[in-house]
Amino acid sequence: MNKREVDNNVNESLQVYKDLFDKIDLGIANFYVRRTGKSIKSVCFHVINPSFEELLQVESATILGKWFPEKKRNAYDSPFHWLISRLGEPRAEKSKFTHFFNSVNRWCTVEIIPLQTDYYGLILTDETEKVNMDTSIQHQLEVLKRVGEHLHVGGFEYDLLSHTMYWSDEMFTIHELDIGEAPDLEQTLSFYTSADRPKLREALKAGLVDGTPFDLELEIITANGNKKQVRIFAQPIFRHNRLVKLGGGILDITVLYKNQHELNQLNRELERSNKELEEFAYVASHDLQEPIRTISAFTELLVTRLGTNLDDKSQMFVEYILGGTSKIKRMINDLLAYSRVNTSKNPSVVFSTQTALENVLELLRKKIYEHNATVTYSSMPEISFQQSLFERLLMNLIDNGLKYNKSSKPKIHIEALESSGFVTFSVKDNGIGIPEIYKNDVFVIFKRFAGEEVQGSGMGLAIAHRIISKGGGDIWYESTEGEGTTFFFKLPKK
Ligand code: ADP
Repeated sequence: MNKREVDNNVNESLQVYKDLFDKIDLGIANFYVRRTGKSIKSVCFHVINPSFEELLQVESATILGKWFPEKKRNAYDSPFHWLISRLGEPRAEKSKFTHFFNSVNRWCTVEIIPLQTDYYGLILTDETEKVNMDTSIQHQLEVLKRVGEHLHVGGFEYDLLSHTMYWSDEMFTIHELDIGEAPDLEQTLSFYTSADRPKLREALKAGLVDGTPFDLELEIITANGNKKQVRIFAQPIFRHNRLVKLGGGILDITVLYKNQHELNQLNRELERSNKELEEFAYVASHDLQEPIRTISAFTELLVTRLGTNLDDKSQMFVEYILGGTSKIKRMINDLLAYSRVNTSKNPSVVFSTQTALENVLELLRKKIYEHNATVTYSSMPEISFQQSLFERLLMNLIDNGLKYNKSSKPKIHIEALESSGFVTFSVKDNGIGIPEIYKNDVFVIFKRFAGEEVQGSGMGLAIAHRIISKGGGDIWYESTEGEGTTFFFKLPKK
């Protein structure tokens, strides 16, 4: 190779390094330092590459070849000056530090490499993305840890390639173990009760063979011998279509399970006592009818027998007996009707509520006439429900509208309004209204606010309420004393 060729080769190599120097993402610089004694007084940059300019937002023309006095810490006004302030101590060895450059919003690692006496190389690496990512991962881990601790959720991962198990800290806490090395699969299984272990073994087998996910509620016995109810779930993790891991978690549901268990027990007891109460109400009201009938029948027989021998006082007593028995009869009948609402097994059918209303008005025709009342209604839709219960409901509300009305011309208006799958019916009267103080008791059984002059058992609205509850609806009212009351009830259309 002659000298020209050698020169060409050298030039080519230099060009390659120059290209690399210009294009590389790392900031590269060389600098001299001038000292007085052992402390550096000033710094002069000899070369810098475009990435260095870009990272520190400086221009080579303004800094190359100039001596910058080392500023006191905190006295700098740009990232570049800050850097100079850190080039302070003489370094015999490579040194490295990471810093957040505020004004350019970047995390950079600065590496200083001694090259010759008082001559150094400097490499600047932008770590912003990595630091942000690390910070975000760190945050996520902390949040997950807090959530895990609070909700008692532990995480695990079984690696099918290395056959190793990873447990999060909370897994150890749930199993009442010291945080350390995670147990292997067999040891993990040994925490489960002998009744539940085969279920988990099966699930794990399927999960590890073909990645079948599972979610089970099982019982464990912790390292300290305490029984705990856990929910254990797992999902397969595939890489390039190959099952590589089974990842999942354990949720300590001991408290939840205990509460749920107690709640179920209470519900069962409530259901049983409701049923018993229901049966009692039915049997009592049914069986009581007979003796009441006997009392009134024999009292009437006694009156017929004694005829004119009955003095005025005895006549009055007899009336009290008959009045009392007919009141008890009414109460018993209504109690029976009340308990029958729930026992009624009639199927729901689609029917015209207008026809149902007209049936009710027909039954109340005489009463309406006697009260000199007017009953009007708008067109009514079809719904699906038990027609007999619907008629009973309307009957009770319209009857009340007539009964609790002192107007010389009682008026009752019935309307129906359809919206989003429900029909809201209203029965409006111009009666005496319901005083505000009774608002919490209106639908309670046997509660009446009217005097004895108006006949009633205090069951009408309780029955109405029960019918609506059975239909999955709602009943309420608006009332102004002396002006009238409107009862509203809402039922699903289908
Ligand atoms: P009852 O009519 O047999 O007394 P209800 O359960 O139907 O029993 O009604 C309970 C009480 O609510 C009644 O005693 C009455 O005081 C009051 N009430 C019910 N409906 C009306 C109404 N439309 N206007 C005024 N008061 C009413």
